[in-house]
Amino acid sequence: MQEFELYQLLERYGIKVPKYKVFDIDQEFFFDHFPCVLKIDSPKVVHKSDVGGVRVGIYSNEELQEAKYEILDSLQKHGIFLELGDKFIVEEEVHGEEFYIGGLFDPIFEEVLLFGKGGVLIEVEKDVCYIDTEADEKEIVKSFKTTKISKLFPKFRGKEYKIEYVVDVVQKFQKLFTSEPIVEFDVNPLIYTDEGFVAVDVRMRQGPKSHFEDRKRSEDIFHNDRVAIFGATDNPKKVGYALAKNALSSKATIYFVNPRLNELFGQKVYHDVDELPPIDTAVLAIPAKYVLDTVEKLGQKGVKNIVVISAGFKESGNEEAEERLAQLAKQYDLNILGPNCLGLYNSQKELNLTFAADTIRPGSIALVSQSGAVLAALIDKAASYSIGFSHILSMGNMADFDFGDAVHALQDKPQCKSINIYAEGLRHGKKFLHQIRKSTKPIFIYKAGKTKAAQKAAFSHTGNISGSYEMLIGLCHSVGATIKKDIDELIFAPAFEEYEEVLIITNAGGPGTILTDIVVQNGKKMYELGQEEMERLDQVLPSTWSKNNPVDIIGDATSERYKAALDILYKPELLIFVLVTPQFMTDGENIAKLIDRPNLIPVFFGNESFKEVFEHFQRQHIVYFNDLENVANIL
Ligand code: ADP
Ligand code: MG
Repeated sequence: MQEFELYQLLERYGIKVPKYKVFDIDQEFFFDHFPCVLKIDSPKVVHKSDVGGVRVGIYSNEELQEAKYEILDSLQKHGIFLELGDKFIVEEEVHGEEFYIGGLFDPIFEEVLLFGKGGVLIEVEKDVCYIDTEADEKEIVKSFKTTKISKLFPKFRGKEYKIEYVVDVVQKFQKLFTSEPIVEFDVNPLIYTDEGFVAVDVRMRQGPKSHFEDRKRSEDIFHNDRVAIFGATDNPKKVGYALAKNALSSKATIYFVNPRLNELFGQKVYHDVDELPPIDTAVLAIPAKYVLDTVEKLGQKGVKNIVVISAGFKESGNEEAEERLAQLAKQYDLNILGPNCLGLYNSQKELNLTFAADTIRPGSIALVSQSGAVLAALIDKAASYSIGFSHILSMGNMADFDFGDAVHALQDKPQCKSINIYAEGLRHGKKFLHQIRKSTKPIFIYKAGKTKAAQKAAFSHTGNISGSYEMLIGLCHSVGATIKKDIDELIFAPAFEEYEEVLIITNAGGPGTILTDIVVQNGKKMYELGQEEMERLDQVLPSTWSKNNPVDIIGDATSERYKAALDILYKPELLIFVLVTPQFMTDGENIAKLIDRPNLIPVFFGNESFKEVFEHFQRQHIVYFNDLENVANIL
């Protein structure tokens, strides 16, 4: 499509364009709105100003003729020769701040808009945000607020900027992009005027778009009353052994299946699907070649939840088997978790259907991980701090059950207080965003693979400025998820999520200041000391104490002074860091004994002097820190 046809398309969606006239190259030009702009409109020219194809600031029809010859001249110098069918556009010159709006059909998120600062430096500045085509007004504003250019709104240097205009123009492009067979477009600049945005330069690429179609699932993946473990074995070296052992201690009824065994852990072993009594959940730790047949039989039997631990699918080049798994899931309305995964955990049944080495404690954190290894490591860490889980889902290859389904499945679970996701690659992005939007529980995401090179597209700017990591982060943030930068935060931060204000008691000024920065940068507030508290502290602390939070109780503080300060300042609703640096008189072991409530967090900044203290904390399963930076993991 040529530019003037694109103008017509925009106008059909109510998007303003400048007054314009289109001329054939051999016509005489005339216009009656000055100043005006003359542009070449030819499929041979993509970036017009790069080849001298745009003249602005034209004040008369004589100047317009001159501009035409200048453009023709410049095009020739760039080796571009016009022919019949090529056009010129004369249009009104529009004045205002230059913005940008672009659209991209992403393989994961489908139609996504980019919006932000426009102009020639767009690829350098990259001051854009990502907006889903399903985003409502609130979400559009939230995304836009992440850009620097948004600081112009509502007023800058005496000029008013209306956020309603942003919402209006974005909504119109959302409609256009989802209704038209367009895979990519660019409007640069989109000029902010007192009457709203005006698009003065449009590029679009047409193409087919295939949208993912979600399906309804009739069964809850955490309905696990009667569970069969296929591949249960007495060989301790095998996954099936760990699975059987971990599952046995649950409140669910567990059945074992293995064609070569009759008894395991004092229980009968079934030989195949037909022999089994009715079950709701099956776990498959059997060779990949038997998986498809078994899933089909289970589907026919009416079993709805199938956890495929077995590897040997897409990850080892066996795409066909993986596709077949997905088909079976559709055909029999199954929840298939995996393949190539670590399993699941369901605290409602105290059911550990993983082959992780540690005991999993019941708690309030739901952990959803694409990588089984990362999951095993986090479970192990959690075990050493007595952190408990409400649910765990190891997603594996996600042939069927994906992150969107996981978020959905956790909504009606009262045990789950937060959903924590470790993601490598996403699938079905719109569905995922949709579920995050609807979620009543906080969602934390850690995304691996940040440095994946941005998509290349010479045609327009969109591809060049849309790094897939930034897009994922931007979109997930705007729909309400919190992005975590450190993987440990997935298990530590949720436990301390409820605390808004922080108190620091320290025996050193410098570390107290550093920790304050970390606290504030991670979105928590520093508690403000009350008058009465100050007076009481004056009585027990040396006169040089900081009179402020962080409460610096001075380098010679011993456990007694820490205790005196804590007695005055302790409040259950505060997150309290007991910050200790090793000084000659510091009795670390006694200070450690003061840590006896979950909102007291020891930060013993040192190493050699505190070895025994750290052992004490480990024995007691107390979350502690021996440095300052990692404190961010719980904030
Ligand atoms: P291209 O991006 O293909 O080089 P544009 O149509 O965007 O060409 O024009 C180049 C620049 O000229 C724009 O970025 C803008 O600064 C200015 N410009 C173009 N059309 C207008 C207009 N109608 N009003 C004001 N400025 C314009
Ligand atoms: Mg342009």
